[in-house]
Amino acid sequence: MSEMKDKFGRPLHDLRISVTDRCNFRCRYCMPKEMFGNDFSFMKREQLLSFEEIERVAKIFVSLGIRKIRLTGGEPLLRKDLPVLIDKLMSIHGLEDVALTTNASLLERMAPRLKEAGLHRVNVSLDAINDDVFMTINDAAYKTEMILRGIDKAKEVGLGVKVNMVVKKGMNDHQVIPMATYFKKRGITLRFIEFMDVGTANGWNFRQVMTKKELYDELFKHFALEAVNPAYVGEVAKRYRYVGTNTEVGFITSVSESFCSTCTRARVAADGKLYTCLFASNGLDLKSILRSNSGDEAVRAAIVSTWQNRTDRYSDERTEESAKNKTKIEMSYIGG
Ligand code: SAM
Ligand code: SF4
Ligand code: SF4
Repeated sequence: MSEMKDKFGRPLHDLRISVTDRCNFRCRYCMPKEMFGNDFSFMKREQLLSFEEIERVAKIFVSLGIRKIRLTGGEPLLRKDLPVLIDKLMSIHGLEDVALTTNASLLERMAPRLKEAGLHRVNVSLDAINDDVFMTINDAAYKTEMILRGIDKAKEVGLGVKVNMVVKKGMNDHQVIPMATYFKKRGITLRFIEFMDVGTANGWNFRQVMTKKELYDELFKHFALEAVNPAYVGEVAKRYRYVGTNTEVGFITSVSESFCSTCTRARVAADGKLYTCLFASNGLDLKSILRSNSGDEAVRAAIVSTWQNRTDRYSDERTEESAKNKTKIEMSYIGG
């Protein structure tokens, strides 16, 4: 079939699926305790897409040209029997890559089963190497040691591993060089993510964003870096290599150098809503279509029409005002 494009000519290339809105961390920039406290009502099991429903949706997306799926959350490793889902996805003909984004608190234990199920890669989120800083950020008493053991185990069983660090001024900017030093030594790619105004819970403002330029300047004081060409059009991270090594660092510049013009990503939230932008207010209720008596053709037609009518370019147009006033879904719900 010919490639499906949105109103600005952007094709649909990759898909993120959130498998739960729950998390055992309370990262202050994502799920602050004041908003996600003990009385917060997370989705009930029947509200989540079942593994069979996720598999069905994934097959339909693959028939539309998707080749890569990333599972996320909340914390995806909290979803019971996740390897069973991975195994189902891996058997979809035409799907080339299944990856996972995780806080890695359960990775040491889960890595062998994930690998066995066919998972290719994990992106581990870790925002500090210093315990006190890390514990202040995750606000749930998790130490770095557990995460680092998870990373080692994932590598040991043969999973691809990258580490993502959200940098927020005044929170962990002083951890940039210690993190780079630690992961350079181990030959693991570290990617710096600019703090974004996703949702409304995290009190975002421009002054807290450590931009790619600031990060690069700081790194360049300590390391010699050379630019690496993008592997494909629309690659989200801007990549560099430590000179004389094969180890890379990357920057995800969602705020300072937005990349909406090449954004080819769709997202399915844990309750089965389809979003065409991280900063959307509304999504298409795929779950209702899946749970009606409609066949796959109706699901496919709804996805095609949603993508073809897409006009999202939030980051290109972001202002301090839009960041404050727009109604936006939370990161833990849509999954990053
Ligand atoms: N719990 C998993 C984890 O942390 O990897 C998966 C879900 S989490 C929402 C996905 C990614 O979003 C993580 O790398 C996290 O650091 C990032 N993230 C969350 N809130 C963010 C924000 N306000 N700005 C930038 N990245 C954010
Ligand atoms: Fe949980 Fe990930 Fe959000 Fe941290 S960033 S609170 S680990 S969902
Ligand atoms: Fe894509 Fe929306 Fe991010 Fe722009 S703001 S890059 S359209 S997800």
